[in-house]
Amino acid sequence: MRTLFLTGGIASGKSTAARELERLGALRIDLDQLSREALEPGSPAHHAVCAEFGADLRGQDGRLRRDLLAQRVFGDPAALQRLEQIELPWIGARCRELLSEAQAQGCPCAVVEVPLLDRALAYDMVPAGAELVYVRVPRELRLERAVGRGTSAEDFAARDARQPSDAYLCAHATTILPNEGASDELVAWARAVWDEACAAASTEAGRG
Ligand code: ADP
Repeated sequence: MRTLFLTGGIASGKSTAARELERLGALRIDLDQLSREALEPGSPAHHAVCAEFGADLRGQDGRLRRDLLAQRVFGDPAALQRLEQIELPWIGARCRELLSEAQAQGCPCAVVEVPLLDRALAYDMVPAGAELVYVRVPRELRLERAVGRGTSAEDFAARDARQPSDAYLCAHATTILPNEGASDELVAWARAVWDEACAAASTEAGRG
């Protein structure tokens, strides 16, 4: 199974590319989405977070109040690290599990959206030698696109500040994919990836 890890800043186009692959039949995993699942009521991470950061984080409906949790760890690097130590191993394990299920089912292609590459690498979420694509767009253009989809400039700036730098992403990527042109080009790239993955999978099946 061809597995791509897609990284890049906020509003670089990761989801646009990943959704096109999903539409064609690829498995799409969004690590942000898994981080929400990690804290669902009943999960070990939910219990551990309440034990560490306060039982009052559990709202009346039993769900974790993520806004309150964010306030508690905001600006406190040690607290943020403790939260990551609870959440990220679960997210990594779940991601590996989903990938092996798709592989076992004969899925030709999977795509993982990685919003924070430094955290993903620190917790071994990207296997050595994996295909790691950096969707690269200058900050100004990302800001414009983020505002265009309804994100406030303040929210963009706060989240962008947590992201690894352009130099870091370039150094770790196996492919740099500029996305300054029309979104059709990004979609065409995703379609080419899908076609190649299907061709490779049928060659492999022919050999088997
Ligand atoms: P990310 O997942 O990296 O945050 P998205 O795929 O959600 O980014 O893209 C952010 C916004 O930019 C979306 O509204 C998307 O439609 C738009 N977008 C993505 N690529 C392009 C492009 N090449 N040209 C114009 N708009 C784009």
